[in-house]
Amino acid sequence: MARRVKVVVLGSGCAGLTAAIYTARANLEPVVLEGRESGGQLMWTTMVENFPGFPEGVLGPDLIDNMRKQAQRFGADTRFEHADKVDLSKRPFVIETSDETYLADSLIIATGATAKTLGIPTEMGYMGYGVTTCATCDGAFYKDKTVALVGGGDSAAEESTFLTRFARKVYLIHRRDKLRASKIMADRVASNAKIEPVWNTTVEEVLGTEEPHKHVNGIMVKDVNTGETRKMEIDGLFLAIGHAPNTKVFGDQLETTEAGYLLTRGAMAWKGVPADSTWFDRYPNFATSTSVEGVFACGDVVDTHYRQAITAAGTGCAAAIDCEKWLESRHES
Ligand SMILES: Cc1cc2nc3c(=O)[nH]c(=O)nc-3n(C[C@H](O)[C@H](O)[C@H](O)COP(=O)(O)OP(=O)(O)OC[C@H]3O[C@@H](n4cnc5c(N)ncnc54)[C@H](O)[C@@H]3O)c2cc1C
Repeated sequence: MARRVKVVVLGSGCAGLTAAIYTARANLEPVVLEGRESGGQLMWTTMVENFPGFPEGVLGPDLIDNMRKQAQRFGADTRFEHADKVDLSKRPFVIETSDETYLADSLIIATGATAKTLGIPTEMGYMGYGVTTCATCDGAFYKDKTVALVGGGDSAAEESTFLTRFARKVYLIHRRDKLRASKIMADRVASNAKIEPVWNTTVEEVLGTEEPHKHVNGIMVKDVNTGETRKMEIDGLFLAIGHAPNTKVFGDQLETTEAGYLLTRGAMAWKGVPADSTWFDRYPNFATSTSVEGVFACGDVVDTHYRQAITAAGTGCAAAIDCEKWLESRHES
């Protein structure tokens, strides 16, 4: 038998768990489907130093664990289930997992984004121990160190420039012989004495040690023209090869950007969509509304710009309040 609920939250990263705390405290008894990556991206990191309220920093998995406990304390039903099928054409919405079918009056989508990785066997073993996909988050750990950053687009150019605030040296590794980045960003890289481009090169292996603690100490790279391999000694490896939003399960039921990120009313406003757009008529106050009424989205599945734990938590809060107000307005009418 299908289970009828007021709100389903999809995702258990910072956005989903914050939405769960707020909807639970509003007595909406949310069901949180944690998905295959329970806890989301922060489970891949060690110390988080920029989440407010933790002057000494907090381990990513501990922060998530605390958020989950906080949501459960107010009655959120957190479940290790993944939404395999979502039908937004019906009311209530139908969400299917391998264990259960949920009939939900409203839906908060916080399915996040997945940073693209190189796909080499050794990289995941050092993720959070010297391999990272977030320069903004982890750059400050590499003061006076030598790091390498892989990528060739605008993000790679921007992040390698950012890293020079801390690192002594930044190798910018790209498989082609020039950047895809815009001219202004590429010029900025070229004029930065701390950045050394390493063209026509791919990373083949991440090297590291367990002593005195687990960390990266080098990479094996290959020249794509000659096939020659060599070792580079580095302290950290940053990946800036893009992100993929986790939106496949929604098919074409929701409006997205070209890259597949969910569009919300707030994102439309931010992108400068004119105020007479039908989006604005439909949702005068709800920044986190998607193109389907009653479906709200938050965190990295919407965000192509900030991608931080605190911004994900912030929009998770906004989605929960929007959802609560929307449910209330239906009750009143
Ligand atoms: C290595 C690393 C280090 C980082 N360090 C920091 C840092 O120090 N400070 C900082 O502010 N930010 C940091 N970030 C960024 C931060 O982790 C993200 O911005 C944040 O996790 C985004 O939260 P989210 O809830 O939107 O999505 P995510 O954390 O991506 O969570 C998505 C959730 O959705 C679930 N899901 C996906 N599909 C489905 C489905 N079909 N059904 C149900 N559930 C689904 C997943 O299981 C997961 O639980 C780091 C990121 C990485 C990768």
